[in-house]
Order: sequence, then structure tokens, then C-alpha cells
Amino acid sequence: MIHRAGTEIVNWYLLEEDGRVTIVDTGCPGYRPQLEEALQQIGRTIDDVEAVVLTHAHIDHVGFAQALQDQRGTPVFAHQAEVPQATTGKAPKTEGSVLGAMRHRTGRKVIFHIVRNGGARPPKVSRVESFVDGAELDVPGHPRAIHTPGHSPGHCVLHVAAEGALFAGDALCGWNTVTGRPGPILPPPAFSNSMQRARASLERIAAIDAQTLYYGHGDPWTGGTAAAVAEARSREAEG
Ligand SMILES: [Zn+2]
Ligand SMILES: [Zn+2]
Repeated sequence: MIHRAGTEIVNWYLLEEDGRVTIVDTGCPGYRPQLEEALQQIGRTIDDVEAVVLTHAHIDHVGFAQALQDQRGTPVFAHQAEVPQATTGKAPKTEGSVLGAMRHRTGRKVIFHIVRNGGARPPKVSRVESFVDGAELDVPGHPRAIHTPGHSPGHCVLHVAAEGALFAGDALCGWNTVTGRPGPILPPPAFSNSMQRARASLERIAAIDAQTLYYGHGDPWTGGTAAAVAEARSREAEG
């Protein structure tokens, strides 16, 4: 089963199988206190958590991964191309400017939210287990990683076939995190490494057989991957 946690700005997830739990993304650094409550809601405890899997290594997805690794020794997984950012906190260049994003009310809200929640200093993880495109991860829920670069170089979506679910990370968003425009939509250039690669990755997402998309930002989409991609293509991301 899948449980959504976080805030109206940033989502993170619990993926549970046979009483064991994988955390998919860890929100903002300041979200650490949310973990116990989220686990309680599915009748689990911290002892049931076996792994963290990151869709990508942006501040609002690496979140409390290091805190958890320090406290519990929890392994943290990311695609091999995402390891440099995950371990150093240094983000690759983006196509748009964050200053430009600040001109939008939604952009300011998102940035201030992340900063207020421990994101002023980018989080990093000292030990990251890397995986490659197509890998089925040996963690609860057994997600399969599909490399969908663009938003960041090692971005992956995570397919959980048994749940008919896809963790979309920021390959697609429920709303544009700069302009606030509703999705499904590509994330804005201000927060993305290569819009061209992000567009090309939509092809891979459309080919995945999953009904529900769980975004890093926004409410889940239940209309299937192909329709989500068609909608995203009809909207050009801005901001
Ligand atoms: Zn991101
Ligand atoms: Zn994000």
C-alpha cells in the first residue's frame, strides 16, 4: 500500500509491503517529525522502515534522508547519475532563474516554504547506494526505476506494478511550482536541468502501465500514464 505524507507544497510517500516500509523521497529536511505520524497512520513504526529511495536529489526530496541514516543506518538509494548531487548537495545548473521564479506568487511560496523547512542549506547524504535504469530495487514494494532525466540528470520514476502505481517525482507535476498552473505539467525551467530531456522522458513515462501517478507536488493523478503525458504535452511549462 501507498501512503501520502508531507504538506500542500511537497509530498513524500510510504510504500508498504508485508509490514515492511520503503520511504519514497523524504520531503524537506524539516519534515523529519512527520515520519512517526505517517508510520502510525498505517500501523507501522520506525523499526519497519528498511530503505529510502530517492526519485532525485533536489532539496525538497532528499529532505531528512541523512537524519534517518544517522539515527537508524537506513540505506538511501538513488540513480547513479544523481549520486553527485545527493552526496554533495550541489545542484546542476537549471535552465531558468530562481530569481525569476520569485516574481511569481506561487514560486515565492514554494521557495520560502522549502527555506523555512530546513532547505536554506541543501541536504546531502553521506552514503548512497546507486542503481541503474531498469533496476528492480530489493526493498519493500520492489519499485522498478525508470531513468527519466531532464528535471535532473539522474531523475527516475518508480514503477510499482503490484499497486498500478508510478512515483513520478518531478518528471511530471500536479501543478507548476512557479506559476501555479494546474497539471499534469512538466516542472518549470527555473528548477529543471534540461527541458529538452524532460520532454523526451515523457515518452518513457507514457509507455509505463500504471493508473495512478504520485507526484512530488500535487494531488495524485488517477487517469493513467498515457493521459497524464498527453495533458503535459498540451501545456508548455513556463517559469
Ligand atoms: Zn525537483
Ligand atoms: Zn520537487
